[in-house]
Amino acid sequence: MIRIALDGPGGAGKSSLAKELAKRLGIVYLDTGALYRTVGLWAKMNDTDPKDADKIGELLGKLNIDVKIENGAQVVYLNGEPVGDKIRTPEMSMYASAVSALPCVREFLLETQRSFARTNSVIMDGRDIGTVILPDADVKIFLTASEEVRAKRRLLELQAKGIAATFDEVLSDMHRRDTADASRDIAPAVAAADAVILDNSDLDTEGTIEAALKIIEDAVK
Ligand code: C5P
Repeated sequence: MIRIALDGPGGAGKSSLAKELAKRLGIVYLDTGALYRTVGLWAKMNDTDPKDADKIGELLGKLNIDVKIENGAQVVYLNGEPVGDKIRTPEMSMYASAVSALPCVREFLLETQRSFARTNSVIMDGRDIGTVILPDADVKIFLTASEEVRAKRRLLELQAKGIAATFDEVLSDMHRRDTADASRDIAPAVAAADAVILDNSDLDTEGTIEAALKIIEDAVK
């Protein structure tokens, strides 16, 4: 069994890296951001302010989130319905960030995340995997890159999905979200003391994968 924690800010390329590492290492990949995005979607579906702790707390009582691996890919179900790409919009990024600052939401999603790592060799990507969810992970990587590079990557991702946005909008949304994530009181998005920082500003996809594989190799030998 191996448990790899992959944390870092938005646009650093965590999910592409995690997917590829999972494939090469033959382990399961869990994208934990998708869970917070699903809670955000539930808030939106119920016309609820994602910062309203009391109302969100009530809504969680009517929410069932299930994560399944289907054909090698993660599918998140919200009360039995797959959420698909509805959680991938810039609006849902902001909703996810808002609900993720609420203790009731983090508590609600804790067991779903930990139970994955109990039964599978996993790589989990998120913001607090190395600090809170899997503090005793075998490997902890904090993947980051300069804000400009991350915003450029995020813009390309959005464009590929046909979502219109400008570089300046993406940069300012990203800055706002990262600042909120890193400065919140509960589970702030910071590197664990024992994480290896991987800055991939000057690395391409393959270079990032190789650097991560080297970190994993060094950690488990
Ligand atoms: O990784 P992704 O951009 O999909 O995450 C969406 C939001 O969910 C993040 O901005 C962050 O606020 C929250 N999140 C979190 N903890 C995690 C994963 C995501 O707080 N482990």
